[in-house]
Amino acid sequence: MPHFICTACGMQYAESASPPAQCLICEEERQYIPPRGQTWTTLAALAQGHMIAFREHEPRVIGLGAQPSFAIGQRAVLVRSENGNVLWDCIAPLDAAAVSLIKGLGGIDAIAISHPHFYTTMVEWAHAFECPVHLNAADRQWIMRPDPAIRLWEGETLKLWDGVTLVRCGGHFEGGTVLHWAGGAGGRGLVCAGDIVTVCTDRKWMTFMRSYPNFIPLSAAAVKHIGQALAPFAFEVLYGHYFDRVIAHDAKNVLAKSVERYVAAIEGRRGYG
Ligand SMILES: [Zn+2]
Ligand SMILES: [Zn+2]
Repeated sequence: MPHFICTACGMQYAESASPPAQCLICEEERQYIPPRGQTWTTLAALAQGHMIAFREHEPRVIGLGAQPSFAIGQRAVLVRSENGNVLWDCIAPLDAAAVSLIKGLGGIDAIAISHPHFYTTMVEWAHAFECPVHLNAADRQWIMRPDPAIRLWEGETLKLWDGVTLVRCGGHFEGGTVLHWAGGAGGRGLVCAGDIVTVCTDRKWMTFMRSYPNFIPLSAAAVKHIGQALAPFAFEVLYGHYFDRVIAHDAKNVLAKSVERYVAAIEGRRGYG
């Protein structure tokens, strides 16, 4: 039986003879059902119209995204440290070319995902590369295709290897996670943030929302917590969830300024009233 994929958010569901009655992710207040209505696809059908595009952001950091764009349109990141490769976040298409190319780069030792909007076909990727998927346990209710490859982690951080750490920030989702790699950006450190910390369109600022499509803000306390969760980590570069959303320099200070600007706005201070 097929594993249907929601074309609006990319979530793949457990096998079923016919498509699910609704997508629980899209029905929830943080997402939406498009005006055309709910439609479904499968991995095989998706491969007929989509490929995977690759971009090297820096040595050992390669972005990959669906071409043309599919569902939410995020790109994932392959972080290749000395002793292992992590796939950060996930995209729905997965084809033979991508498997061959990524295996040529050493394969994938673990998948880690920021939040449920990017779970997509994570189980297909885990099976193709025979690796675990690390998800924060606080978001377990949003796993739509359970599988033994999925490992739930609890608490505030999970250390992988080579200075690669998953950091729970919360906010957009309770288990909202970012990845820190101390060896990235030439040893100055990098953060892969998904949209737990979102790089703004101007690439000068970051912002934080409960829902981006439906414009639901977070509280000042939730955003301050994101800043505090990342305070112990040094980083120069922050990768957002689209190919072109990158803070290329001084990202730790940009985060501090952005938390301050957000909190001032939500509290109606500094001309934001
Ligand atoms: Zn959906
Ligand atoms: Zn999201």
